Amino acid sequence: MLTKTQLADLLAEFGEPAYRGTQILDWIYKKRAQSWDEMTNLPESLRVALAERYPLRPLKHTLTKGSKDTTRKFLLELSDGRYVETVLIPASPALYGESSDRHTLCVSSQVGCAYGCKFCASGLDGFTRNLSAGEIVSQIILAEELSGEKVNNLVFMGMGEPLANFKNLCEALEIITSDWGLKIGARRITVSTSGLVPQIRKLAELPQQIRLAISLHGPDDVTRDKIMPVNRKFPVAELFDALRVWNSKKNQKITLEYILIDGINAGVEQAGVLARRAASIKAKVNLIPYNTVDGLEWVRPSDANCKRFKSVLSKAGISATLRLEKGHDIDAACGQLRLKKEKGAL
Ligand code: SAH
Ligand code: SF4
Repeated sequence: MLTKTQLADLLAEFGEPAYRGTQILDWIYKKRAQSWDEMTNLPESLRVALAERYPLRPLKHTLTKGSKDTTRKFLLELSDGRYVETVLIPASPALYGESSDRHTLCVSSQVGCAYGCKFCASGLDGFTRNLSAGEIVSQIILAEELSGEKVNNLVFMGMGEPLANFKNLCEALEIITSDWGLKIGARRITVSTSGLVPQIRKLAELPQQIRLAISLHGPDDVTRDKIMPVNRKFPVAELFDALRVWNSKKNQKITLEYILIDGINAGVEQAGVLARRAASIKAKVNLIPYNTVDGLEWVRPSDANCKRFKSVLSKAGISATLRLEKGHDIDAACGQLRLKKEKGAL
């Protein structure tokens, strides 16, 4: 999948006139052509040359879990036989927005993940490879085709660490937000990161007003070190310095993601520290009771404990949501479905 500039360069290389670029972008992103052959207003020689270099459909749908009106998870096969997953969450007012006509898609950015957070299925088997911009964008196109719905809210919260795949992420964001591309408003796109400080600073420089979510999961270094190895490289204080830079460039609130894990990070004192941290950068907090992962020992706290944690934040004036979970029964935590497939359980 190509950006406007890449396509223009390619057409110049082929000695084709520039207006072909507009025709091709229209076929790919508006008419959603399934193959280069469909582009009947292009010369055949050009179609053949393009088909040799750029597969239009780099992903193959393998499996859907869930049903219409509920969270649906699509398992997609890449051309090298690997798998990624993408999750469609219908009407989700509690997630990153207020309106209830949202169709939120949660996309993957890598196969596996190198960051090895101790609670996460995506990191269990380590990192395999980055997804190309085309493979990222194709998740959206396929999810729209499979569901018949227009994706109007996008979160980079599937498998992988998007900021570790920075170049492809930026290319994908260009295709997704441009008028000639998928035309999804930047304000409806959230990039989630475990806290890669240099890349957060770089992302803050992008002109688009995308949103940022931080997988915090621990409000201090002692707690965070236990579950997120990335914290040794970029400790909490450094992370928050970068978030202040982000705030100086963007005018949307940062979201702090906080999984509640029993006996690890769900204490009342930790809630107090989290409240102070959130206040210091005017962030909102998204609390997520831990979703059990096969092979990992962590468990979620009781509902009462989760509510108590939230009330500490609310009393401190922090806007916090306790996510009523969708998709728990379909292995919705990132990476779980792919792991099952690769281990032969599906
Ligand atoms: N690597 C990025 C993007 C992936 S987001 C990041 O970590 O932010 C995936 C989100 O799901 C993260 O907030 C992650 O912490 C969360 N997550 C991972 N395992 C989970 C589990 N078992 N239950 C609930 N949430 C989980
Ligand atoms: Fe990677 Fe994010 Fe999972 Fe951590 S939480 S292992 S960074 S996908």
